[in-house]
Amino acid sequence: MTTELPIYLDFQATTPVDSRVMDAMVPWFDVHFGNSGSIQHQHGQEAEAAVEHARGQVAALLNADPREIVFTSGATESNNLAIKGALAFHLKHHGRAHVVTCTTEHKCVLESVAAMEAMGATATVLPVGDDGLLDIGALSSAIREETVLVSIMAANNEIGVLQPIEEIGALCRERGVWFHTDAAQAVAKVPVDVDAAKIDLLSISGHKIYGPKGIGVLYVRRRPRVRLEPLFSGGGQERGLRSGTLPVPLCVGLGAACEIAAYELQEEGAKAAAMRDRFLTKIRAEIPSMIVNGSMEHRLPGNLNLSFPGVDGARLLDSLTRISVSSGSACLSDDVEPSYVLRAIGVADPVAAASVRMSIGRTTTEAEVDEAAAHLAQVVTSLSAAATMAAE
Ligand SMILES: *Cc1c(COP(=O)(O)O)cnc(C)c1O
Repeated sequence: MTTELPIYLDFQATTPVDSRVMDAMVPWFDVHFGNSGSIQHQHGQEAEAAVEHARGQVAALLNADPREIVFTSGATESNNLAIKGALAFHLKHHGRAHVVTCTTEHKCVLESVAAMEAMGATATVLPVGDDGLLDIGALSSAIREETVLVSIMAANNEIGVLQPIEEIGALCRERGVWFHTDAAQAVAKVPVDVDAAKIDLLSISGHKIYGPKGIGVLYVRRRPRVRLEPLFSGGGQERGLRSGTLPVPLCVGLGAACEIAAYELQEEGAKAAAMRDRFLTKIRAEIPSMIVNGSMEHRLPGNLNLSFPGVDGARLLDSLTRISVSSGSACLSDDVEPSYVLRAIGVADPVAAASVRMSIGRTTTEAEVDEAAAHLAQVVTSLSAAATMAAE
C-alpha cells in the first residue's frame, strides 16, 4: 500500500538532497572514509583533497577565496560563530562591542545577540518597514563609535524579503564595521557575491540548497581581515576557527550543491518566479481579500507568504491536508504564538495566525502548483463561508 504524501511546498524549511549531490557523497562514507586531518597517509590525503575541492566549489559560488570558507554544522552554528566570535574578539581586546541587527532576523541571530548582551556587548535591534525592508538611513544612524558588527540577513525565511545587502555592505565598509549576512535562504536562489556586496561574514546551510543536513559554511573575509574568537576549543581545524573532525561526505555534498547552483540558479529562479506568480494569480482570483505579506518586488523567486483575514488560523492549518506548507505561527508547547516576523511588519495577531508560507523548489511542477492553488482556495472559501454564517 502506498499513501500519497501531500504536495511539498515548504522548500524554505528544508530541501531534498539532489540526486547528483547524493551520488557525489556516497563513496566518502565507506570506500574513502579517511580523516581529512590525517594527511601523513593516503587515506587522509584523498579525504583532504575532497574537502579542498568542495571548499573551492563553495568559494566559486560566492566569488570568494577558498581560504575564506569555514565548514560548520549549519547556518545556526555559522551565525553563532559570526556574531559571538566577532563580539567576543572585540570585548576581549577592546573591552566593548556594539552590534546592529533587525527584528526579522532568524532566532539564532537574535538569540546570539542576546547572549552577547549578557556578556557585556551592547546591541541595537532595528525595526523594519511594513514591506519587511530595512531603512538604510536608520541603519546609518544606529552605527556608532563602538559598533563592530552589523548583522542583516540577505533573504528572510518567512516572508522571502531580500534586504539591500549591497547598500548595507557599502555603508559598513565606509564606516569601518564588519558586515555579517545570514544568507541561508539567499545563496543558490539569487546571485550573492561577497566582493560586490562588501560582505565580511556570510552564513550558508547545506539543507536549504539541496545539500545534506548537518553542514554549513561561514565565509570569513581575509582582506581586510575579520578576526573571530572560536566557539570550540580543540584540534584547531579550519584555521583555528572551528575545531572538530570534518564530516567529509557532507562537505563533498555541500560543494556539489554549490556547483549545481552556480550553473542552474538563474534558470531555476525564473522558473520558480513564474510558478509563484501563476499560483498567486489563481488564489487572488478566488480569494480577493487575500494579503501578500512582505515586498513583492524585493523577494525570493519561490516564496509567498499569504494571509486570509477573517479565517480561523487553527482551522485553516487543520484543513490544509493536501499541501505541506508553513504556518504564520510557531507552536511552543501548547501555545500558538503568532510569527514575530509577521508582527514586526505590522500584521495583527489573528491575521498572522491565518497565514501560510509556501515555497516552491527545484522539483515543483506546474501541475502541483495548480492542484495546491485549487486546494488552498477551496479550503479558504469554505472556512470564510463558515465564518460568515457564524456571524449572521
Ligand atoms: C534554516 C535557517 C537557519 C538555520 O540553518 P540550519 O542549517 O538549519 O542550522 C538560519 N537562518 C535562516 C535564514 C534559515 O533559513
